[in-house]
Amino acid sequence: MSVYSIAIDGPSGAGKSTLAKEIAARRGIVYVDTGAIYRTIGYYMFENGIDPKDAESVTAALPAIKVDMAYHSDGIQHMFLNGRDVTSEIRLPQISMYASDVSAIPAVRAYLLEMQRDMARRTSVIMDGRDIGTVVLPDADVKIFLVADVKERARRRTRELAERGTPRPYEQVLQEMEERDWNDTHRATAPLRPAEDAETVDTTELNFQESLARLLSLIERKLGV
Ligand code: C5P
Repeated sequence: MSVYSIAIDGPSGAGKSTLAKEIAARRGIVYVDTGAIYRTIGYYMFENGIDPKDAESVTAALPAIKVDMAYHSDGIQHMFLNGRDVTSEIRLPQISMYASDVSAIPAVRAYLLEMQRDMARRTSVIMDGRDIGTVVLPDADVKIFLVADVKERARRRTRELAERGTPRPYEQVLQEMEERDWNDTHRATAPLRPAEDAETVDTTELNFQESLARLLSLIERKLGV
């Protein structure tokens, strides 16, 4: 099969990244985590004391920012900010809101659009984000919109943060998740919403294996292989 693309969008904690990573490994294609790119831009603002909601200052900072991605043998998508590996730093809990704030700024989205499209032109990808099926890859061969109840998503994220050694109380995770959901769905540019031709999958009641099986069969049905 020639180059193809799978778009997977949805709110945080629905299972996009873990599922996309596994699907990429099984199908031998590249997994692109676009949230990591927004996190890298957010991290720059955090480090430089720039208010991530201040569109003018964020836009003015963009020419000084070079974002690169590289895939190492560890299978992890490494993110580089002006040549420095910031793969772990961008996962700090406080960077989630920075990413969400900068991502609402049209200049930031425009700045990153071509970079994301370029990856999908060169190789088969499964790309996860918020606007992949609607804006970045409107012609994606498969479009999945992954959802789950916010309380279940907050429980999963709380577990994940504890495992990563950066624990946070459940109530706080839930509150931040609701805030980020609101931000991501209400922004004027590229809000989070399913593409008209996306298949919605709800993982609230599904474990990882069940979710994976559901997505793999959906992808095979759409691609014919
Ligand atoms: O996926 P992740 O939670 O790491 O993304 C961090 C933030 O980046 C999201 O809350 C969202 O605001 C933003 N984002 C986006 N568009 C994407 C991917 C992420 O706006 N394609």
